[in-house]
Amino acid sequence: MLPIRDELDLFPSAPSKQGEPRWVIHDPIRNKFYEIEWRVFEVLRRWHYGSDHHIATAVNRETSLNIDNDFIENVRNYLSSHQLLRADNKESTKLFLENIKKAKKSWLVWLLHHYLFFRVPLIKPDHFLNKTFPYVKFLFSPTILWSICITGLLGIFLLSRQWDIFFHHFVDLFSVKGILFFLIALVISKVLHEFGHAYAAKYYGCRVPIMGVAFLVMWPMLYTDTNESWKLKHRRQRFNIASAGLAVELSLAAIATLLWTLLPPGNIRDMAFVIATVTWISSLFINCNPFMRFDGYYLLSDISGIPNLHERSFNVAKWWLRETLFDLGEPAPEVFSNRTQTILIAFAFSVWVYRAIVFIGIAILVYYFFVKILGIILFAIEIVWFIGMPITKELFEWWKRKSSIIGNTRTWYSLGALSILLMLCFLPLTSKISSYALIESSAYNSVYSDVPGKLEKLFVEKDSTVKVGQVIARLRNHKYNYQLDQIKNEIGLQLKLRNLTSVDTRLRQESSMIIARLSKLKSEKKSIEERIRKLTVVSPIEGKISEINKELTIGQWLGVGEKFASIKKDGQAQITSYVSEENIFRLKRNGTCRFYYKGGILPPLDCKVTNMARASEQIMDKPILSSSAGGEITLEPNNLNLVKPREAIYKITARTINPKIKLEQSQLGTLNLQIENKSLAGSFWRWTTATILRESGF
Ligand SMILES: [Zn+2]
Repeated sequence: MLPIRDELDLFPSAPSKQGEPRWVIHDPIRNKFYEIEWRVFEVLRRWHYGSDHHIATAVNRETSLNIDNDFIENVRNYLSSHQLLRADNKESTKLFLENIKKAKKSWLVWLLHHYLFFRVPLIKPDHFLNKTFPYVKFLFSPTILWSICITGLLGIFLLSRQWDIFFHHFVDLFSVKGILFFLIALVISKVLHEFGHAYAAKYYGCRVPIMGVAFLVMWPMLYTDTNESWKLKHRRQRFNIASAGLAVELSLAAIATLLWTLLPPGNIRDMAFVIATVTWISSLFINCNPFMRFDGYYLLSDISGIPNLHERSFNVAKWWLRETLFDLGEPAPEVFSNRTQTILIAFAFSVWVYRAIVFIGIAILVYYFFVKILGIILFAIEIVWFIGMPITKELFEWWKRKSSIIGNTRTWYSLGALSILLMLCFLPLTSKISSYALIESSAYNSVYSDVPGKLEKLFVEKDSTVKVGQVIARLRNHKYNYQLDQIKNEIGLQLKLRNLTSVDTRLRQESSMIIARLSKLKSEKKSIEERIRKLTVVSPIEGKISEINKELTIGQWLGVGEKFASIKKDGQAQITSYVSEENIFRLKRNGTCRFYYKGGILPPLDCKVTNMARASEQIMDKPILSSSAGGEITLEPNNLNLVKPREAIYKITARTINPKIKLEQSQLGTLNLQIENKSLAGSFWRWTTATILRESGF
């Protein structure tokens, strides 16, 4: 059994919040303090008894405690892991060397660790503090405390009455000078903060061996070694030292705020402004924050009477998570009251969420400020170190318990819940957009002449039903037939010439011209044939002829755009709407939709998208949907009375599913259209890969 190192001190500390006595082991060589509870203290007092069994029996006999050999083993592990045991025999030398080996990590780990966190001791301020303390001692008086409080309240009161000026001052200071002022204010307030801790330690007679700067992911933070506060007999004193930095910053904030309200404009007022903002923000949002290891954390640890609050709450939360997921029936790592346990678990989860966000944020910042490829490596390191490693460690704990985890029914319930959650992540989501729409009693289609010609025959009459492609009228245009004959002759001629090029050398030179001429003639022929085809007018839709142009007579010459008839599609109502360019590409093709009457005068109608425009509309053919008629689409002002939309819009037509809709007149309303969305996981993946690809320049 290894003896405890001779030079270590063991002295009583402030009792815990619950009133249990506490002791502190002081390692003077490294100036480290380890708080221990009564049980450990009793074991250490008897450490020289030699064997676990002897120590345990002695403790159980001489005190009201009840400990076993396992507990002694735990104490030994604790001592050895903190190098508090003497290393003077063969076995211990080996152990010691192993520890050194462990400490001498590979250069990569060293680099990693020093990139993520390292400390630079800068000064040994103890002598200076001792000399100057008499000059600042007056600050530790109730009079000063009350004056500061009154100053702060007055400052805030006066500030609240000119809040907008204060805010504008902030905007005014966005300049190089402003940034310089902010940096100076930050350094001043942080230095004073640390001296607050240092002088408070002095006030209670503690030594302050080191002040320096620590770097957390390259971000500098000052620190003051006030470890000696562990020697103090009262928790209150330790608390005062830990909160002194915050008190100094808040005092600065109070004074600067009041000064700002009183001073005339100028550089001094600007400085007061930046000191006020910097100190308010840094003290309230950074120092009070208990999620990271700032002052707020140590204060909360102290107030709650739970030292090592982070680690202990994490352990309880991890245990709770394992129990919830797998129902292992393991005892809690520590016994707390139900309420405390719930608070600790909630606290641990908040810390995790907060840290995940902060470290990902820092990683992104690092990534942006470094050379790209280095940035990606540092980004990966931070994610692995701060997020990946803790998770892996916990998964390893699960792995150790795999046999009991698999054997438990709760595991399968958890697995089920997890798969449902995953499925929700991977399920394609459909969401909706709504746009202003017009519903019309029926789909009307008017049939017009596309080409000029003499009306030869009209095949339909009013109220007759027609099918798609059914002939409605036939026109005749002799000019087209004549042109077609001419072109056919010309083509025949050119074909003959082409054949001759193979025997006639003079013609051979012209062969490319002949081919070009031929292709031109062929396309002309096609166009004339198309016009001839259009002389036969057919119905574009299925429906009933609702109107016949009564002015038409057989043999009459008709120009382009002459109306023959209107066809009404029976029963169904047609809905027209316009959507933006951004939305048209997200809309589901042939999706279902729903029409809601304006003001809800009638129940909504289920409908189906029948057509989505592929090109944007130059002119709105339903001007009632424009802003001038109460719609959403703003129009381009013009003096031609044209209904020209200002932004690109795409026409959507839909038809009601119910074939029998009775509509007396057209109505306005909104159309809810389905948007095709990728799943949550899919969207996240696309966003991540797109960002990485874009930013890495691969
Ligand atoms: Zn501090």
